[in-house]
Amino acid sequence: MMNDQSDLSDNKRRVITLLKKSGPLSKGDLAVRGAMGWATAVKVIGQLTEAGIAERLGTVRGDGGRKGKRAYLYGLTRTNPLAVGVDVEYRTTSMVLTNLKGETLARKALPTVNPTSDRAIRSFLHKTIVSFLKIAGSSDTVCGVGIGIPGIGFPSDSRLDNIEKMRDLEVRLSDRLGLPVRVSDNTKAYAVFEQWSNQTFPLEDFIFISVRTGVGSGIFHRGNLYLGNHGLSGEIGHIPVVPGGIPCRCGNRGCMETIVGQRNLFREYSERVLGNPENMTEPDPRVIQRGLADLFTRARRGEEEPLKIVTVAAGHLGRCLAMAIMVLDITNVVVSGHFGPDGDVMIEPVRAAIQENLLPGSVFTVKYLPFDPLGHVQGAALLILKDYFIDMRTAVL
Ligand SMILES: [Zn+2]
Repeated sequence: MMNDQSDLSDNKRRVITLLKKSGPLSKGDLAVRGAMGWATAVKVIGQLTEAGIAERLGTVRGDGGRKGKRAYLYGLTRTNPLAVGVDVEYRTTSMVLTNLKGETLARKALPTVNPTSDRAIRSFLHKTIVSFLKIAGSSDTVCGVGIGIPGIGFPSDSRLDNIEKMRDLEVRLSDRLGLPVRVSDNTKAYAVFEQWSNQTFPLEDFIFISVRTGVGSGIFHRGNLYLGNHGLSGEIGHIPVVPGGIPCRCGNRGCMETIVGQRNLFREYSERVLGNPENMTEPDPRVIQRGLADLFTRARRGEEEPLKIVTVAAGHLGRCLAMAIMVLDITNVVVSGHFGPDGDVMIEPVRAAIQENLLPGSVFTVKYLPFDPLGHVQGAALLILKDYFIDMRTAVL
């Protein structure tokens, strides 16, 4: 049976969140960690088990339960609820069927249609999702479809702003699919993935920077993603940093992403380190990722030209981040990219550039996390599944 997550009480969300972040757990663990009474924990886990969302896994000699007794452990089930996540990139569209645990039950990737109009994108997504649902053999436990799309300039002729474009797509696709649909830009979808799936990253206030072809960010305040009036919050990649510089897809010149975006880093690496003049054809994303991994490894070894390329890019990124930190007063920054095992070599120059441009004595953190290969598509599914979770800050002792 399809779940209606709007019926979930805060206690149910609390138990589901604990099972996702720290499961499997006993009723005793849930009562303590969820700061709820024993009777409440027993009742809630009973209801979730009956609804097919949680299941009893076996016993453990429990100190989490009542002393001296064996306590049953509970976990989330694999099959209820499920959600479809769709990550639309300019070249490739990836899909996943997943559950509350973030397991991949089915996946598929195909070339993205040429994004000439809202209508072309809508009909591409409708066909693609319908055929995926058939192949995935999913049941009526699918509770919705989450979609991440590129923000600015997608589709190319769209005159709607980001929020209107995304709400329009949600309403029309939801009508045709008969399922709830949520759409966000893919950087924000990835940021939601970090928020809920990264066990070592429990921050509620952070700026997440994604460096792919574009450079975008997700701004979280008290656990909530800030969207802005037009869904254009966090477009840090379009801050102009080089007057009259390289033309950007947004229509301006010299935007930060024209320097820091992976396409430009790869071009600089090809031309200045490998001595290959820019090839007009768009390289395969895997070629770009391998090239960037080499670039960052060479920078770590201290090779002059690679280090210069990385340091200049990191300087621009750091100065833009300093502005964001000063405006928002959010002082934790996470940078993600496809930069290979030495990707964190950029963090020190980013940190230095932030420090130099902030108010004296300001305290901040900045760290690098390589992209999880499934993070964008899992994050898209979490646009739906996150309704099952709750902010635990007030509940954790
Ligand atoms: Zn731009």
